[in-house]
Amino acid sequence: MIAEVYIDIPAKPVNRPFDYRIPDDLAELVRPGVRVTVPFGRTRRLGFVTALKEKSEFKQLKGLDSVEDHVPVLTPELIELGGWLANQTLCSTVTAFQAMLPAAMKADYKKLIVIDQIERLLEEDPELAAFLQSVKQPIWSEIIKAHPEWAKRMQRAIKHGLISVQQLVKNQAKAKKAAAVTVEVPRSSLEDELNQLGKRSYRQKEVLEFLLKQPDLQHFHETIQKLVKHGLSREAIMKLAEKGLLKHGYIEQFRDPYNRPVDRTKPLSLTEEQAHALEPILTTMQNEEHKVFLCHGVTGSGKTEIYLQSIQRVIEQEKQAIVLVPEISLTPQMVSRFKGRFGDHVAVMHSGLSRGEKYDEWRKIREEKVQVVVGARSAVFAPFKKLGLIIIDEEHESSYKQEDMPRYHARDVAIHRAKKHHCPVVLGSATPALESFARAQKNVYTLLSLKERVNHRPLPSVHIIDLREELREGNRSVFSKELLEKIKDRLAKQEQSVLFLNRRGYSTFMMCRSCGAVVKCPHCDISLTYHRAQQLLKCHYCGYEQAVPAACPNCSSDAMRFFGTGTQKVEAELNRLIPEARVIRMDVDTTRKKGSHEKLLRRFGKEEADILLGTQMIAKGLDFPKVTLVGVLAADSLLHLPDFRASEKTFQLLTQVSGRAGRHALPGEVVIQSYAPDHYAVTDAAHHDYGAFYQQEMLLRKRAGYPPFYYLVLISLSHPEPAKAAESAERIASILRRKLSHTSQIYGPVVPSVAKIKDRYRYQCMVKYKREPELMPVLHQIMQHFQDSGKAQLQLTVDLNPVTLM
Ligand code: ADP
Ligand code: ZN
Ligand code: ZN
Repeated sequence: MIAEVYIDIPAKPVNRPFDYRIPDDLAELVRPGVRVTVPFGRTRRLGFVTALKEKSEFKQLKGLDSVEDHVPVLTPELIELGGWLANQTLCSTVTAFQAMLPAAMKADYKKLIVIDQIERLLEEDPELAAFLQSVKQPIWSEIIKAHPEWAKRMQRAIKHGLISVQQLVKNQAKAKKAAAVTVEVPRSSLEDELNQLGKRSYRQKEVLEFLLKQPDLQHFHETIQKLVKHGLSREAIMKLAEKGLLKHGYIEQFRDPYNRPVDRTKPLSLTEEQAHALEPILTTMQNEEHKVFLCHGVTGSGKTEIYLQSIQRVIEQEKQAIVLVPEISLTPQMVSRFKGRFGDHVAVMHSGLSRGEKYDEWRKIREEKVQVVVGARSAVFAPFKKLGLIIIDEEHESSYKQEDMPRYHARDVAIHRAKKHHCPVVLGSATPALESFARAQKNVYTLLSLKERVNHRPLPSVHIIDLREELREGNRSVFSKELLEKIKDRLAKQEQSVLFLNRRGYSTFMMCRSCGAVVKCPHCDISLTYHRAQQLLKCHYCGYEQAVPAACPNCSSDAMRFFGTGTQKVEAELNRLIPEARVIRMDVDTTRKKGSHEKLLRRFGKEEADILLGTQMIAKGLDFPKVTLVGVLAADSLLHLPDFRASEKTFQLLTQVSGRAGRHALPGEVVIQSYAPDHYAVTDAAHHDYGAFYQQEMLLRKRAGYPPFYYLVLISLSHPEPAKAAESAERIASILRRKLSHTSQIYGPVVPSVAKIKDRYRYQCMVKYKREPELMPVLHQIMQHFQDSGKAQLQLTVDLNPVTLM
């Protein structure tokens, strides 16, 4: 038999499988979907088997080295999905496969040193030969690290063919194993033994009595520590094992990142609106149809309860459900709502888990130990075999689009999978993406509306404050008089406030007041950001850092000043204005440590602070009964980004933030400070009017020719030499013009707003189209051409339906 294998070759992605002979001793293990190690050139590589066949058009095939998995990691559906994804996003099939699996399963390549001609090496460099023979594991990087003094001599020996360096694949994923006791014989044998045991063996009797109380002996397994904790004797267990009644072996264990008790909840009785929305979802599931629902419900309208009750039905049908939640709102609060309803049926996947934890959660899914996964974007690839439902909460969130290869949108993947499984997709949001709402208007998606909050709690009242007016009256603070009064008022009433500062565009940078020069990163065309805690200037693109300069690097004047407002500055000002208020600051700096995010929120929930001050990360999902005031310090920071979605993002963010106020018995109030108080994104958000915003924004998109009226493709390239970058950009633009310009518009090449990142010069071209049958073939040709022509220095990415154009 012959296996078709897609091989992981990071340096040069090849988008076709290679044929390998399956050695007889591996014949039983090789199945489509398993990972295998194969010889490739002079190295070994990890690959994915996608098909088996009897004949190959190639002669003298190499044999597979080894099989990495006992259970295929890719189901037949996921193998197909990988091919589709590679084609849609113009990446290699292996990259697509890897995106579907936990990072712990990626191969870790180490360079292994093999001594080819030990005799000649002994002759030429006996010292080196002796040294290499003394090393237990001759791995290149480890030797160089431990013994840099050998590096030069080793390189010389490699050049002369005395040593060769080969690739070693190390598979990192490991399951944790624990010693466990299992029962090897039928119940009646245990009973016989119990009757035969004399009076002296009462410790063995205890073990047998304990076991006979277990409902399912065949699947009983427990660690010996646990049994001892129950008061059983280790010696007695071992005695019974010697007699062949029990077995003391190893079972795989799962690390549980959420190992804490949650209160179990029961389904709530639904409001009329909720029942109305749930019904068509259940019907679609019942009929095993595929449909996409857009559940448009104001914040607090009880969308999550609808998700929970549809999942309930999925479990009853013995199928499985995927729930996607944006990374940022995958808070412990959110997770416990699902764990509270479905207990151990739930796996959780997000970036806060360790590699091992992620791997274990993934195995729970693959081994069907759970029926529900709640996770961020990549959980859309959960290897369930009988999908009954996919839910995407906050479907408008830009984090559902992956910004690296493969540049997929979780929504598209969800719909592709749901079609294959004949099941519905539910997209939920208070502020659906314009694209999604437009599809619902055209009945491509089925619209479900929830117009009221549960129990008819009013939406918070919103005040817009004109910051220009404040400035005219001489108030230079980041707090308007009105907002400050309201914060003080809440403090007096022992209620809580949430203050929101958008980080983007609000970081602190350094500028020379004399010549106007801004301190920029030498590798990236971007201003450095001041980090007060470390007294350093840092680049947010490449991590470059430097000390704060005493004099201007441009004109040597000493008039260097900090500009901009960061959360730290706002915190300092709060402390000055209201010294008695207890403030919790939440931003990248205070939440870097694992678990700190959760700790801060718990403290706020326990009312150990009066004010929660933070960035994007506090905009979503938080639900605190004592919060009655939400302040947005500057609504404009997003509004002026060079992005056609700037208004949409502002509207979404303001609506989300406002939704944090007054979710419980106490009524909520929102204050939005802005330099553009009449902008429709601000006023429509203040009136909680999605419809008005949609109408206005669609008019502008139509006029300017943007999605959802047109589709966009962004082609970006970078090169370390500016002239080469420009030349390639011109060539790509001219190919696009020649082949596509009958039905599409081609823009560029242009230099994007950040012209250089990590010493690479950047260019972009854009294709705008309504229908373009030639698009994919032409894009594939361009990718192929610029990859094959050996221009390794050129990096080219194609982004279909980009979420940002910066
Ligand atoms: P959304 O996801 O639409 O923002 P949530 O699902 O968070 O709304 O619901 C808001 C609050 O209302 C939650 O505290 C939830 O427990 C509660 N809730 C939802 N549905 C009901 C119901 N049918 N009866 C009573 N309370 C409900
Ligand atoms: Zn200067
Ligand atoms: Zn940089």
